[in-house]
Amino acid sequence: MKQTVVLGGGVIGLSIALKLALEGIEVTLLEKQTCGGQASGAAAGMLAPFSEIGEDPDDFFELCLAGLREFKSWQQLVNDISGMDFDYSEVGSLHCVYHEADLLSLETRKAWQEKYGAEMTILYQDQLAEQEPLLSKDIIGALYNSEEAHVYAPDYVKALEQACIKKGVIIFEELGDVSLAELEGTITLVAETGQTFSAQTLIVATGAWAHLQADRFHVKLPLYPIRGQICAYQFEEQRLNHIIYTSQGYLVPKANRTIVNGASEDIAGYRTDVTEKGIQRLLNWNKRMMPMLEEVEPFHTWAGLRPATQDGFPFIGRLTDYPNVYFACGHYRNGILLSAITAEVVKQELLGQELAISLESFRPERFT
Ligand SMILES: Cc1cc2nc3c(=O)[nH]c(=O)nc-3n(C[C@H](O)[C@H](O)[C@H](O)COP(=O)(O)OP(=O)(O)OC[C@H]3O[C@@H](n4cnc5c(N)ncnc54)[C@H](O)[C@@H]3O)c2cc1C
Repeated sequence: MKQTVVLGGGVIGLSIALKLALEGIEVTLLEKQTCGGQASGAAAGMLAPFSEIGEDPDDFFELCLAGLREFKSWQQLVNDISGMDFDYSEVGSLHCVYHEADLLSLETRKAWQEKYGAEMTILYQDQLAEQEPLLSKDIIGALYNSEEAHVYAPDYVKALEQACIKKGVIIFEELGDVSLAELEGTITLVAETGQTFSAQTLIVATGAWAHLQADRFHVKLPLYPIRGQICAYQFEEQRLNHIIYTSQGYLVPKANRTIVNGASEDIAGYRTDVTEKGIQRLLNWNKRMMPMLEEVEPFHTWAGLRPATQDGFPFIGRLTDYPNVYFACGHYRNGILLSAITAEVVKQELLGQELAISLESFRPERFT
C-alpha cells in the first residue's frame, strides 16, 4: 500500500488523498501549478443534485445525491481536521420558472424527487415574495428544496489541502506537467522540473487534462474543457436567502455578503480568460432573476475549465489492464458536490471494500 501517488491537486485529487491518508496509506500528491488553481477554485460551490438534473433520474443523479448526503459528514471532518471554515451553508434552493406551462414541470419534478427523500414545496408568487422579496416578479413559481447547500469553493480547497498536510500527505506543487515514464510494475512519473516519483498505486485526478494520461494506458477518455465564466457582486448585507436556480443561470448567496452569478458554458480550448460577451450574457440574464443587479457592477469576474465527458458521466475507478491505476475525473458541473463520494468509492475499490454505489456506469474504459 506504500507509494500511492495522486496526480492533480483539485478537489477530486485532494479529497482522494485525504481519504486514503485517513486509512493510514502513505500518499504523495503531485500538482502542476497550485492546488485548486484550476476548475476547483473557480466553482460556485453549489451542492445541488436536484436542481442540476433534467427531468428524469439516472445513475448520475443517484451518484450526485449520494454525493450530497456524503458531503454532510465529510465537510465536518475536513473542517475539524483543518481547523478551517469554508462556509458550508444548508440554505436550500429555489428552482424558478417564468411560464405557466413550466408550473406543470415543477409538479412533475416534485413528484419524482420526493421519492428520493427530498423535502419539496412549490411556492407561487406571493409566497416567493415573502421568502425572497428581491426576486423578479416575472418568476411565477419555484420549487423549494430544503436539502441543497453550498460551500465557498476557494476556501474548501484550502481546507482540504490543510487537512491533507495535517494527515501526512506530501504535496508537491509548481511541478510543471508531470508525465508518465515507466508504466509496468512500479510506475515512474517525471515532472517538468526534473523531479522523479515512483508509485505502486497511481490515481489520476487531472480534471480536464486526464485524457492525456489515459492515452498512455490505451484508454480512450473523451474529455473536453468547457469554460465557465462567472462573476460576483458585493453588498453591504446579504440580499438573498436561498440558492436561486433557473434554466439560464443561478445566484448563490455567500456568507461574505457576495452573490455569485454563474455561469457560461463555452468552448475555448484551454483558455481561462474572461470575455466581454461571456460576462454580458450573465448580466443580460441576471436582471431577469433579480432586477436590482442591473444597477450594480460585478466586483469580480473569473473563469474555469469544467471537465466534460462525452456522455456527461464522470470517469471513476480502476483500470482493468493496469489494476494499480485509478482514474477520477470528468465531473463537469458537479465536481465539488461529487468530491466526497468520489473519494469514498475510490478508497473502497482500492481497499477491496464493498462499494457505496455501483461504478458500472462510470468506468473509465467504457469508450475504449
Ligand atoms: C465557473 C464554474 C462553476 C462551477 N460551479 C460548480 C458548482 O457550483 N458545484 C459543483 O459541484 N461544481 C462546480 N463546478 C465544477 C467543478 O469546479 C469541477 O467539476 C471540479 O472542480 C473538478 O475538479 P478536478 O479536481 O477534477 O479538476 P481541477 O480542479 O481542474 O484539478 C485538476 C488539477 O490537475 C492538475 N494537472 C493537470 N495536468 C497535470 C499534470 N500533467 N501533472 C500534474 N498536475 C496536473 C491541474 O493543474 C489542476 O490543478 C464549476 C466549475 C466552473 C468552471
